[in-house]
Amino acid sequence: MTSEDDFTETIYSLSKKRGFFWGPSPEIYGGSAGFYDLGPLGKLLKNRLEATIRSAFVKADFWEVECPTVSPRIVWEASGHIEGFIDPITECTKCGQTYRADNLIEEFMPEEKAAGLTIDELTKKIQELELVCPSCKGELGPVQEYNLMLKTELGLDQEAYMRPETATSTYLLFKRLLTFFRQKLPGSVFQIGKAYRNEISPRQGMLRLREFTQVEGQIFLVESDAKEWPGFELVKDEELPLLPSDVQEQDIDDVMWTSVGDALKKEYFHTQAYAWCVHLAYLIFSGMGFPKDSIRLRQHLDNEKAHYAIDAWDVEIHTRSFGWIECCGVHDRGDYDLKRHQEYSGENLSVKVNKKPVVPNVLEIAFGVERPLYALLDNAYAEDEERVWLRFAPEVAPIQVAVFPLMGKDELMEPALEIYEEINESGLIVYFDKGGSIGRRYRRQDEVGTPFCVTIDYDTLEDTTVTIRERDSMEQIRVKRENLVKSLRNLVRGTVEFESLQ
Ligand SMILES: [Zn+2]
Repeated sequence: MTSEDDFTETIYSLSKKRGFFWGPSPEIYGGSAGFYDLGPLGKLLKNRLEATIRSAFVKADFWEVECPTVSPRIVWEASGHIEGFIDPITECTKCGQTYRADNLIEEFMPEEKAAGLTIDELTKKIQELELVCPSCKGELGPVQEYNLMLKTELGLDQEAYMRPETATSTYLLFKRLLTFFRQKLPGSVFQIGKAYRNEISPRQGMLRLREFTQVEGQIFLVESDAKEWPGFELVKDEELPLLPSDVQEQDIDDVMWTSVGDALKKEYFHTQAYAWCVHLAYLIFSGMGFPKDSIRLRQHLDNEKAHYAIDAWDVEIHTRSFGWIECCGVHDRGDYDLKRHQEYSGENLSVKVNKKPVVPNVLEIAFGVERPLYALLDNAYAEDEERVWLRFAPEVAPIQVAVFPLMGKDELMEPALEIYEEINESGLIVYFDKGGSIGRRYRRQDEVGTPFCVTIDYDTLEDTTVTIRERDSMEQIRVKRENLVKSLRNLVRGTVEFESLQ
């Protein structure tokens, strides 16, 4: 059994060796914390994840949009980010190192609760506890507010910021979207794109990035929609692994499998629409192929809620590297956002309900792609005396099928390349490898999580059959060449069991 740090190291070194991710980037110049490059396999994996996310949103009637990543200052004043998107920091008066004040306090005095304290209270706390700079023992300066947005300039002098989330840029489109929805709500949109957070000293590798890809789904709706949500009936009997706040207060961390309908009755969720949203978030993460007991839904405690949040639950994923990590937030943001943008822009962002103007509410599903990507690598890792392999669900595996001619000789190369082309045409992600012994080629594919390998040998020339080898069981079966592509597609989709192909 390896310790947590060792296991993180295991995942990082496999990722580096096999081209999942590299960094901190730019590596040849020493690297900046909070930036990573995705290598070829990491990019393929991310594409697969984004494809499952996109398809889940589209099935749930969301429309995709794409907005600029830079906006002028006024936008971030309206959104509340200039004022509220801040971390408390303290700077060492001797060596100049900066630290997150709340983290520093909790690190040295784990029993102290620093989250939620004001700037002055944090300064006092540091003095009371006589905390000094961890690296040089120097005196720590007064706690200051540090804004997490990356500042830039448009033209010569217009102050602007890189977006710290995609949601705000979506809200700015509300009038246009309303026309697109033919003046009818509810309407749902989502965005997948880059966001930036200038973390003061990001330390958790791929989990805390200064530049990352964010996914945010937004539903614009009015109160009557929230209470009677069209899709609710379809999901009300589905069970969710819930960890409500009252249970957490009793120090219990076993999930309670509860149906969506019962959770609403127990007031874990306040409206049908919000309950439906939490279920959708759960579906999205299940669709990435996490094992059932590695996903849970945790309700925010009162002191964790953001200023705008009425209802707030997180999707958490269990990792060997870090234990349970927050991967996605589902929030009922009320009418906060549109009201603020109405006020700051002077545009009317209301709809008519019973002939009266009403500013719509927003429900939101928000997460970064890199966290589940890391968590997926972490959850997929397996090893025994013989080999290391990644147990990705075939649907998200970066490479879905590898094709090997037994020998790199002409008579086998020709049918092997033909088969490779056929699989490629079918839309599966396929890789051709003719180098080294068959055993070595299997090991290489195991290590990057390829679920199926197809081998073309001398029997193929005789009886037109090929071998499919399954990654987890290492079992091999022969199938007729004419059935190969169909079988592979069914295997990847999970609509047929490997053994049944025999
Ligand atoms: Zn210092």
